Amino acid sequence: MNDHTLIGRELDAAVARALGCNVEASRHGESYVCGCPQNADNEYPHGFFVDGIDTCELAHYSTDFDAAWRAVEASGLLAPDTQNSLHGHVDGWAVTKDVTDYEDYYASACHETLAVAPTMPLAVCYALLKFLEKKS
Ligand SMILES: [Zn+2]
Repeated sequence: MNDHTLIGRELDAAVARALGCNVEASRHGESYVCGCPQNADNEYPHGFFVDGIDTCELAHYSTDFDAAWRAVEASGLLAPDTQNSLHGHVDGWAVTKDVTDYEDYYASACHETLAVAPTMPLAVCYALLKFLEKKS
């Protein structure tokens, strides 16, 4: 799903699902938890870190810089072979793909925009959904 109308915890859940998380509603249904098995360090792979301690509460990918960066690393969004890059933009942050055709440099577009958003975590979340949707 690539829907810029997703916000907050719904967006966090969509990102986690795109990363392969078995997202579950929390016990009282007011939030989401990572339903994946804990890793060798007893951490939930898509969990939320509070003071360095991992909880099963779903990571806040769309608002937490560290969580967004973990999602970047887990997805390969900015891996060199993708030609994707994250950079500042007049409207905040952008993730773009270099699509320059060096055979026909002047005729081609140079960049395809994956996402533009006011904050880095938001730009990463929207770009990641688009990126993983294309790969699948
Ligand atoms: Zn998970």
